[in-house]
Amino acid sequence: MTWQEIQGHDAIFERFRSAHLRGRLSGSFLFIGAAGIGKKRFAFALAKGLLCKGESGHRLEPCGTCESCLQFGFNPQSEQVNAIPTHPDFFYVAKPADKSFIPLEFLIGSKEHRGGEGLCFDISRTPYLGNRKVAVIDDADYLNSEGANAILKTLEEPPPDSLLILIGTSTAKQLPTIRSRCRIIRFSPLPPRALAAILLKNDVVSTLEQGLNLARRSNGSYDQARELYDEAIDKIRADFEKQLTSRIIDSVNLATQLNNFIDEVGKEAPLRRRRLKLILNIAINHFREKLKQANSHESMQIAAERLNSVLEAIEQVDMNANLPYVIEAWCNRL
Ligand SMILES: [Zn+2]
Repeated sequence: MTWQEIQGHDAIFERFRSAHLRGRLSGSFLFIGAAGIGKKRFAFALAKGLLCKGESGHRLEPCGTCESCLQFGFNPQSEQVNAIPTHPDFFYVAKPADKSFIPLEFLIGSKEHRGGEGLCFDISRTPYLGNRKVAVIDDADYLNSEGANAILKTLEEPPPDSLLILIGTSTAKQLPTIRSRCRIIRFSPLPPRALAAILLKNDVVSTLEQGLNLARRSNGSYDQARELYDEAIDKIRADFEKQLTSRIIDSVNLATQLNNFIDEVGKEAPLRRRRLKLILNIAINHFREKLKQANSHESMQIAAERLNSVLEAIEQVDMNANLPYVIEAWCNRL
C-alpha cells in the first residue's frame, strides 16, 4: 500500500516508520532530489503523521480527525502543495520569490528580536498540542553562509522530540557545515508508472498510456511533466490564434482541428468539455484584444460578433450540449 497516496517513495517512508516505531525519529534531515518529485509533499505528510494525536499516529498515518490533524489541514492527495499547513507545532520557511537567499530573520528573528523569534526559536519552545514539533526549511539550496551559520547549533542539537527537515535539490548546493550535521535522505525521480498514475489522478492525461508517454519524457518529475503538457497547449494556442486572426476563417479546417484536440483526451465528457473550454477561453481573450485594438467600425463589429459567438459556445458547453455540434455551429458562425 502506498503511504498517504504519495507515489514512489515507499522505501524512504518505511525507514521513517521503523525509526518512529523504535521511538527514534527526531533530529535533522536533509531531503535531496530533483524538483517536482514530491519531497515537500512527503515532508508535510510526515509532519502531519508525526503530530497526529490519534490511534494511527504511532504508525505515522495521520488519522485526519484529531485536533492536531484538523489544525494541520493539508491533503497529500491534492495536486498542489502551495498551501502551507498552519499548526502551532509546525514551522516552515522558504526563500521568498523576490529574494536570492533565505532571509536571516526567518531563521533567528529580526535584528531587534534576534534569538527571540524565527524558526530556531519556535522549535525550541514547548509544544502546544502534543509533545513534538516539526520544522521544514524549504529551498535549502538558498541558505547563504550567514543563514547556515545561524542554524548550525539547532541542526547539531535539535530540541528533544523535534524534527528538522531541510529540502534541497543536490548535496553539492549545500554548505559542508550543513551536510555534515544532517542525515541525508535521497529521493529518486518518480518511476514512469508512479508519475503516470499521478498525472492521471490530476486529470493532466486521460489514460495511463498517455501518462506513461508523458512520464517517460519528464525525467520522473511532475513539474517537468506539467511543463511539457503546457507546452503542448501553447503550441496549439499559437496555431489557433493565427487562424482566428485571418479575415476569412477556414471553418471546416478549424472545426477538424478542434475536434482532434478534444479527441486527444479520450471519451470522458468532463475532460472533453474542459479541453474545449480551454480553447474557447483562448478565443475570448483573443477577440477581446482585437476589440480593444480595433481602429475601424468594421473591424470592431467583426471582433464583437466573434466574441459573442464564443460566449454563446461556452454557454452551450456548460449546458452539456453535444461538443462536435457546438464546434461546428461556432466555426460556421465565425
Ligand atoms: Zn490525527
